[in-house]
Amino acid sequence: MGATRQAVVIDGKAIAALVRAEVASAAAEIAAKHGIAPGLAVVRVGEDPASVIYVRGKIKACAEAGIASFERLLPESTTQAQLLAVVNDLNRDARVHGVLVQLPLPRQNSADAIIEALAPEKDVDGFGPRNTYLLSAGRPGLRPCTPWGCLRLLDEAGVKLAGTRALVVGRSNIVGKPMAQLLLERNATVTIAHSRTADLAAEVARADVVIAAVGKAEIIKGSWIKPGAAVIDVGMNRGPDGKLLGDVEFAAAAERAAFITRVPGGVGPMTIAMLLANTIEAARAQLTK
Ligand code: NDP
Repeated sequence: MGATRQAVVIDGKAIAALVRAEVASAAAEIAAKHGIAPGLAVVRVGEDPASVIYVRGKIKACAEAGIASFERLLPESTTQAQLLAVVNDLNRDARVHGVLVQLPLPRQNSADAIIEALAPEKDVDGFGPRNTYLLSAGRPGLRPCTPWGCLRLLDEAGVKLAGTRALVVGRSNIVGKPMAQLLLERNATVTIAHSRTADLAAEVARADVVIAAVGKAEIIKGSWIKPGAAVIDVGMNRGPDGKLLGDVEFAAAAERAAFITRVPGGVGPMTIAMLLANTIEAARAQLTK
């Protein structure tokens, strides 16, 4: 009997810090070359408490990386026409290279219409129709930050993707679907599981790479994990005691996996880091046009 082998924990905080350092040096290079800092505008409508925290975090991260930030804080009562006018204004503003509209929006606003109105080259969340198409066509474009961050974690850990069986659990437009397309682009054989999947345990047991993006605490049991798999946990769930829990049963999964991320300290820190990286990419593309 061999001793239990523990997975290597992929350190999202450290990798996010690395990405942010790359962003800071790229921002300085852009400012020196073009005489303008890369700029990110963040639009928030209303006072959703989580959105207030997220937007604050994004603005702070910009300042630390040498990215100019432009905050547009609008009242809860903002009409769709008023919000569209703000987006159009930012689309035309040459100081702004990336625009992020913090979701969710109040009921009277249509997120789809707002996202469609964003200039594709400034769509740093990568949710708009042009960037969605570019991803599905396997062409360069701005990739959605969370799955883009998951891919970077796998790359930094040295996980080979080509030829592996990858399972994405969850099919949202912001995480699951783009994640599956990114893995496909990297030549994994990709399965997408969702709430109607007949036997999730069997799907997980076959997978060399598991990306969990469900939003249900510890729904993926450690005993399901294929020995030697790489496991990336996107889930952020509050446990009964208020503790933050992932979608994967961490301790048991870490006894079988070769690589695993923790919650917190895994995917979470990567999302903002990749938003900054996308802002650099957007600024470069616009300034060298
Ligand atoms: P959504 O609620 O939009 O999607 C959840 C997905 O999980 C759906 O596709 C749903 O299937 C699927 N699902 C639900 N129940 C099951 C089940 N029993 N078995 C298999 N699949 C199931 O969530 P998001 O994609 O927005 O987010 C997922 C998680 O990731 C959340 O915890 C969220 O907080 C977190 N998150 C973390 C981020 C970060 O930066 N770390 C960023 C974004 C999200 P169906 O389509 O059939 O309903």
